[in-house]
Amino acid sequence: MNWGKDILLSFIFLLLATFCLISLMGINPKHPAEIKPDLQKPSEPWIIQTIPDGGSIFSVLANLNLPLKEVGLLAFKFGDYIDVSTIQPGDTLKILLSEDKQHIAKMVFVQEPTTRHHFTVSADSLVYSLEALPVKRVKRIMEGNLEETLDASLLAMGFAPQDKQAINNGLEAEINFARDARNGDFFRIFVEERIFEGKTLPGRKIFYVQYSGERTGTCELFRYEDEEENSVLNGLYTKEGKSCHSNGVGFPLSVIHLVSPFGRRLDPFYGNWANHQGVDYRAHYGTPVYAVANGKVTDAGYSGGWGNEIRIKHPSGLTTQYAHLSSMSVRKGQTLKKGQIIGRVGSTGRSTGAHLHFGLIKGKKYINPTNLKMVGTEKLNETQMARFKSQQQIILQDMENLMHPKPVIASVKK
Ligand SMILES: [Zn+2]
Repeated sequence: MNWGKDILLSFIFLLLATFCLISLMGINPKHPAEIKPDLQKPSEPWIIQTIPDGGSIFSVLANLNLPLKEVGLLAFKFGDYIDVSTIQPGDTLKILLSEDKQHIAKMVFVQEPTTRHHFTVSADSLVYSLEALPVKRVKRIMEGNLEETLDASLLAMGFAPQDKQAINNGLEAEINFARDARNGDFFRIFVEERIFEGKTLPGRKIFYVQYSGERTGTCELFRYEDEEENSVLNGLYTKEGKSCHSNGVGFPLSVIHLVSPFGRRLDPFYGNWANHQGVDYRAHYGTPVYAVANGKVTDAGYSGGWGNEIRIKHPSGLTTQYAHLSSMSVRKGQTLKKGQIIGRVGSTGRSTGAHLHFGLIKGKKYINPTNLKMVGTEKLNETQMARFKSQQQIILQDMENLMHPKPVIASVKK
């Protein structure tokens, strides 16, 4: 697509035409600001915007008075590099405009104090580079006794909300807290922290959780890590490989990276404000797409802007939608099992690049698919279990080394 070039060409043409007109008419092109240059302050080249509460990259860029189509496409392409679900209020976006102030030339997105995403805009594409300042990784065992609720105890230990939730969810699958938890119950958590300039960054990697109480017995959870980085399977499981989340639908892809959320956004295709009736996940062309739950195919074919599109009706009454596929491997009327491959990621229909559009329909209305509780798996398979067993051994050994460091025996020369 050449729209960036087109805009630039139209702009140059317009500028030339105006200049010719002005010269012909003999009008002085100076405007008041140029008459009193001494009153002008030197302008700050970088525009610095902070993502507000409830704000998005779209809303921040839309405030710049630039062509909305450009902004829509840039914000969408931005998601190719940054999972937009990780963007937090308070993150900073620095923008440098082109000399004519009509386009964005460069952007820097500062996500954590240590992570800087650099973008250079050229025509309609982004050139991306990541600058990650070095952090110190420290493994640590945290222990405590239950006071009031586990949530309160974890909060007191400085756990971030998402970490607290992972621990809570994991244990709740095994323990009836309301019935069996008592003050004084013991818990131990083995984590990896990232430390930058002496401060612990939010978000800890949780390797192990143990909870012991008189009525609860002892419950242990271990972290499983799949071969694929950011795999939907990564997380806490029981020793036997049972997921801590048992009742949820599956993920449509094995790695989830949100490019564009549900709701109001600048359409990357037309550049108008529109309601995005689903979510877009980044994925390479040809990546397998899975049915998120058992169901029956109600549509599988080419459908205008959706391109190759599959719709599956589930026993719950909800329908899931998978659009822009490069290929489809199911037929209308076919019955499907959760996790079955239904097709491959593509860019068919009204799409600006390979991605999966995932929609959720209730009755006749599109609803936000991120409301679905998605679960990587209920139980690890045999291959994954073998990997998990050796990971458990490493975790236990690491903890043992931390709790009982081996004494260093200096060899004495005689
Ligand atoms: Zn979409």
